[in-house]
Amino acid sequence: MTIRQPNLNEARSKIVATIGPACEDVGKLIELVEHGVDVFRINAAHGKQADYERVLNKICQVREQTGFPVAVLLDLSGPKIRLGQLAVDPIEATVGAELTIVRGNESTHEGELCCSYEKLLNEIKVGDQIMLADGVISLQVTSKTRDLATCRVLTAGTIRSRQGVNLPGVTLSVSSMRPEDIDNAMWAARHDIDFISLSFVRSAQDVLSLKNLLTSLDCKALVIAKIEKREALENLEEIVEAADGIMVARGDLGVEIDVAETPVAQKRIIQVCREKMKPVIVATQMLESMHENRRPTRAEASDVANAILDGADACMLSGETAIGNYPVEAVDTMNRIMVHTELLLKNQKSSAGTRRSEQVHPITFAVTHSAADIAAAINAKIVVVASHSGGTAWVKAQQRNYIPTLGVSDNVATLRRMCLFWGIMPHRVDKLEDPQQLIESITSWGIEQDLLTKGDFVVFVTGTGILDNTHNLLVVHEVDH
Ligand code: PGA
Ligand code: MN
Repeated sequence: MTIRQPNLNEARSKIVATIGPACEDVGKLIELVEHGVDVFRINAAHGKQADYERVLNKICQVREQTGFPVAVLLDLSGPKIRLGQLAVDPIEATVGAELTIVRGNESTHEGELCCSYEKLLNEIKVGDQIMLADGVISLQVTSKTRDLATCRVLTAGTIRSRQGVNLPGVTLSVSSMRPEDIDNAMWAARHDIDFISLSFVRSAQDVLSLKNLLTSLDCKALVIAKIEKREALENLEEIVEAADGIMVARGDLGVEIDVAETPVAQKRIIQVCREKMKPVIVATQMLESMHENRRPTRAEASDVANAILDGADACMLSGETAIGNYPVEAVDTMNRIMVHTELLLKNQKSSAGTRRSEQVHPITFAVTHSAADIAAAINAKIVVVASHSGGTAWVKAQQRNYIPTLGVSDNVATLRRMCLFWGIMPHRVDKLEDPQQLIESITSWGIEQDLLTKGDFVVFVTGTGILDNTHNLLVVHEVDH
């Protein structure tokens, strides 16, 4: 049996890997976890619930076989607009060619496009741009009647049925969740999924509708808002406050706004997340060339490093692990870039986390903060944060201290959540209540794992039971045997 134990040489930053045909069998998934995957992403844009269920069963086997509580993120496609079924598929669109858009989900003539969003023809105007296939193809609306729009091709490419459609700058009245998103959220609630992300979020209200739905289902999954529209950038602060975490979804964002604006947008999104103490994932094309190659481009290596230096908690792999030729190499490469980049943080006094967000309890903030300072002052080997709900580990992660932190809990759902929190290595114990017992059991376990030896200092943050939900006991322990 392979066990992925907390490893001091592993990246502090977290890796989210998308599951797909290239990594779907249990053996491959185990390899990915061994190389550093913390969260598996199931993309609900593809497949059906029976498929997600099959994947989830495999992930449960992976958890059993590796001993690592790998988390699961279900990614809801939200109001993603797609082309419908084209009468002639594909269409080779050349610059200057004229195409028409008709109502309905199926077109009947060559050169006719149709789309999954029934109100498209009501909401586009002459002059609007329509982007297809992740922005590769662009069209401009040249004339419009009630049931037909004529477009000119500005950028050529191959148009296929069900390609994604982006309408940069067009305000759509489409609702934030379609019936299938609601159905998938209900599936997630029934299957104890850890994170649910929502695509094409435009406002805090979009996030709250999903949260309300989950609350009504008694589901404790954390909600990740995907920032991929200009409207989301305009309402960024409120969205970050409403969500439990954020994804910088650069794929669609780079079509919905000028791709030239995305690097600065990424930095701003991460900064707002750090201020509001919310975990943030940077996604899409991080190691894109590794679909076909064993080694990344220099620019890709820098992209991962820069995301970490910007302050991201996690980076995501999409096609690289889902359909690429080298999923394990992609994870390994990402992990190695992170490890090397994090060395820069080693001697740095924690930059963020010095100001408390209003959503964080002052005691939790003060105690975790002091724990980090003490750990740095005495060069502690590890910090241990004991947590029932994961809240303390969450706050601790925001400080970006290089000294490894063990997130300890007796609750498996909490341990899985910790998989997204920067620098927190989840570790299960049977009981949290008795601090004395906890210190002893973690110390002997650490010695057994060769993580600790005589003379090492360990800083413990734990509750005394005097106050609920806050941590107010800080113990510095010297390993004495
Ligand atoms: P997607 O989201 O892969 O579900 O489109 C990520 C992105 O747009 O970057
Ligand atoms: Mn997207």
